[in-house]
Amino acid sequence: MTPARPLRVAVVGAGPAGMYAAGHLLEGPGGTYLDGRLQQLVRRPVEVDVLDRLPTPWGLVRHGVAPDHPEKKLVQRIFEETANRPGFRFFGDIEVGTHVSHQDLLDWYDAVIYAHGASGDRPLGIPGEDLPGSLSAREFVAWYNGHPDYAGLPIDLSHERAVVVGNGNVALDVARILTQPVESLVSTDIADHAVSALAASKVREVVVLGRRANFHGAFSNPELAELGRIEGVQIVVENDDLPSDHDIVLDRATRRKLSTLDAYSTQPRRESERRIVLRFLSSPVEILGKDAVTGLVVGRNNLDLDGDGRAGVASGQERTVLDTGLVLRAIGYFGNPLAGIPFDSERGVIPHRDGRVLDQGTLVPGLYVTGWAKRGPQGIIGSNKKCARDTVRSLLADADSGTLSTQGTLNPDVVERRLRERQPHLVDQNAWLRLDDHERRLGRASGRPRSKLVDRRAMLMASRATIRRSN
Ligand SMILES: Cc1cc2nc3c(=O)[nH]c(=O)nc-3n(C[C@H](O)[C@H](O)[C@H](O)COP(=O)(O)OP(=O)(O)OC[C@H]3O[C@@H](n4cnc5c(N)ncnc54)[C@H](O)[C@@H]3O)c2cc1C
Repeated sequence: MTPARPLRVAVVGAGPAGMYAAGHLLEGPGGTYLDGRLQQLVRRPVEVDVLDRLPTPWGLVRHGVAPDHPEKKLVQRIFEETANRPGFRFFGDIEVGTHVSHQDLLDWYDAVIYAHGASGDRPLGIPGEDLPGSLSAREFVAWYNGHPDYAGLPIDLSHERAVVVGNGNVALDVARILTQPVESLVSTDIADHAVSALAASKVREVVVLGRRANFHGAFSNPELAELGRIEGVQIVVENDDLPSDHDIVLDRATRRKLSTLDAYSTQPRRESERRIVLRFLSSPVEILGKDAVTGLVVGRNNLDLDGDGRAGVASGQERTVLDTGLVLRAIGYFGNPLAGIPFDSERGVIPHRDGRVLDQGTLVPGLYVTGWAKRGPQGIIGSNKKCARDTVRSLLADADSGTLSTQGTLNPDVVERRLRERQPHLVDQNAWLRLDDHERRLGRASGRPRSKLVDRRAMLMASRATIRRSN
């Protein structure tokens, strides 16, 4: 009897969610380590092709996580281990929706998992938002992290003040990168163009605007406390004057953050090269400027403690103007629709039930979703492991119950041939390893973990070069 052929799955997106999904599908002989114990998810051989629109894998671990947080990037070792498992293939520089269609993937594979993240922005919806000098934090982060699509972004650091709108960890990442001495960044994997621009930066003050009160900040305490350790930077807290008779019950995490903020508020003012101003209960009302940003009108919000403790709308009375040439909107990433895939445009996600994609409430056979494309832009890297596990469980259950349409699935060699016809510059696993090796060698020469290539042509050339190991 001929053994059953492996289940063949395409994963769109080589970020954490896609790589965790691949890891679950290709679990080691003992199973997958989940919820503190080894669990066996897979009962048949599986082959996984992970496709990414970039020549490089790992998604926001490479292009989102701050360069001065190298410990957060160590997770890529787990992804590398997955990539070494039998049955895994990586195909980079191939975009679903451009080089291959959704229908192609459904035809070629038994099942497709969408794990393409959230690569758009939530808009502020105020006048002046589209002026040069007004950018999303997503674009700025991609710029300093060497994302090839954003390497050429014009970032004007010639003004003394920058304003960051938003109160999450991304807002704090951006404030930290803008204020910390550039010497502490040169040994990281930050993009070279960002080091040059930051070295010449005239920014002396970064104002971080929070719409709500200090106890509503979405940032976490380690990130907040880290600000206080930046050399030469004073942290100033504004609009944290809460009524003394408020009776809001605060959880332990919030009390920690308030205590950190309190320490900032009470520390003596000192001479500092730069400052970060954490201004609460403040909303941007209008971005000023004719040809580029020159200022930002900010409205003071009311604290509505009678209701659910949320801040009210911007008061018309108390408006101030901040002179600035750079406004960075850190109010959230947002999902992008892909042609042919159901999309909830209100929430920016693919609708699903247990990871199975829904089209107007009806299940689409063979189609699955995980990560930020499924949950929206929230959660840390590790959150995607459980999310991917849940999706993979649904997929495997469908495979076992015979719900997947396995007729017409192509064999791996034919799929690769088709992909190469559509994208002759395809970066496969070996090509990525050559590019990876090249970047690491370049970085080692100057004491950095890697020196990122940011130009697609240079990346492709390095991916084709023969590996010359330096040791
Ligand atoms: C600025 C920032 C900093 C962060 N810092 C931390 C941190 O320090 N620690 C932490 O735990 N978490 C951090 N996170 C959260 C973490 O990065 C996310 O939880 C995680 O990356 C989400 O994984 P994902 O795979 O869903 O999406 P992504 O990481 O965005 O991966 C999606 C992948 O899909 C690819 N793709 C998109 N469209 C297509 C297409 N059409 N065809 C093919 N491929 C496509 C993209 O190129 C990308 O590689 C941070 C997030 C941000 C935004």
